[in-house]
Amino acid sequence: MDASESDHVVIVGSGIIGIACAHYLNQAGLRVTVIDKGSLAAGCSHGNCGYICPSHVLPLTEPGAIGTALKSLLNPKAPFRVKPRFSPAMWNWMWQFAKRCTHRQMLTAGGHLKSILDSSLIEYKQLMQVEKLECEWTENGLLYVLQTPHGMREFAQTDRLLTEHFGVTARRLESAELPDFEPALKQGLAGAFHYQLDASIRPDLLNSEWTRRLQSRGVKFIENCELLGIDKADGRVTSLRTSQGAMPVGRLVLAAGALSTRFSSMLNCPIPIEPGKGYSVTMERPEICPRYPMLFPEHRVGVSPFANGYRLGSMMEFVGYNTEIPERRIQQLRDSAAPYLVTPVGGGRPERWYGWRPMTWDSLPIIGQVPRLSNAFLATGHNMLGMSLATATGRLIAELMENRPPHIDPRPFSPARF
Ligand SMILES: Cc1cc2nc3c(=O)[nH]c(=O)nc-3n(C[C@H](O)[C@H](O)[C@H](O)COP(=O)(O)OP(=O)(O)OC[C@H]3O[C@@H](n4cnc5c(N)ncnc54)[C@H](O)[C@@H]3O)c2cc1C
Repeated sequence: MDASESDHVVIVGSGIIGIACAHYLNQAGLRVTVIDKGSLAAGCSHGNCGYICPSHVLPLTEPGAIGTALKSLLNPKAPFRVKPRFSPAMWNWMWQFAKRCTHRQMLTAGGHLKSILDSSLIEYKQLMQVEKLECEWTENGLLYVLQTPHGMREFAQTDRLLTEHFGVTARRLESAELPDFEPALKQGLAGAFHYQLDASIRPDLLNSEWTRRLQSRGVKFIENCELLGIDKADGRVTSLRTSQGAMPVGRLVLAAGALSTRFSSMLNCPIPIEPGKGYSVTMERPEICPRYPMLFPEHRVGVSPFANGYRLGSMMEFVGYNTEIPERRIQQLRDSAAPYLVTPVGGGRPERWYGWRPMTWDSLPIIGQVPRLSNAFLATGHNMLGMSLATATGRLIAELMENRPPHIDPRPFSPARF
């Protein structure tokens, strides 16, 4: 292989993680091609809530998560739902997940998440300053609104934990202050916590703007090009078999989101990811549209106001690679917003959407070199935080590939941990 070929990086997956990796590898002077089995960024990175949220340091592996999952077996309307099915991989995943639902493990995973969340926010700010991507980047914080006094008391405990262990602080708003602060909220809600450092974007705009910018710098994006097989020799990936034919490769980055796990045996490396299915519905802005992106923890629903639209998103279903969008789930999103908002829904023809979050059993992303293949890297498993973690992931991949000192400790995210 000549020098120019060894500098050719192929990234599999054009979601936010693939795009961010392409950005940092292009900046490092490497030749980059991104392939995707479908249209560009049409997977989980398309219709999510768009929060860039360092406040989300607490992992899903928290005490009580298993109880919530067990209750969901009896309740098809539960926002967090596990559907029992014959899948040894899924049951092993659940068992590994369950083992980590302790207070100690939650704090450890939270510490690792904090390092990459904080770094990502800094990287995003620089990216927006330099590239000026038109993606509705807003530094408006994220408002967690509680309906009941009980919910407020419970969330106050979470807030205290965030402050004491991670230095993540919020402004607490009492019931009487809320209508002035956010006129879209109904009267009589219990209160809210405003995490002022969080930011937000419109995901589809970020993906398309960033892709266009990279294309103008020579990054090649190929749609409808599915990775089918991986050829290896002497501890290296030599070429890829794709639906568009063979593709020589100098280095490989697998950023195939929830579908990454399909390449475990080809890469001779466990990639334990289960799809965590979520839904969103996007409509016109309602008459009184929220100023702030918001989360309603008691109903587990998120609200994302955009310049020309409005999105409700939520749910976490472990139901395999299921592609249905049941109307009852979409209705549930609308119903969940109703107790909080003066006008909870907007008009127009709604876009109904689902996405498979790439869920790992320890709530941490998988970033780094594949243990037995010197030129193959994983950038996947970003759980509920792929938008928030993309920039630091891209930077870390470029550093590890180029053997530069990493800007954060990469060991908690190493593929070798499984
Ligand atoms: C309802 C909902 C709300 C969310 N809200 C937020 C939020 O507010 N903030 C946040 O940080 N995160 C959020 N997330 C999570 C976030 O969307 C994901 O973590 C993130 O999009 C994952 O990005 P990705 O690039 O890894 O995967 P994807 O976007 O799924 O991209 C993977 C790509 O790989 C391609 N691919 C797969 N297999 C192959 C193959 N064999 N060959 C070629 N290409 C292939 C796919 O076609 C796809 O385009 C949310 C998720 C959901 C469902």
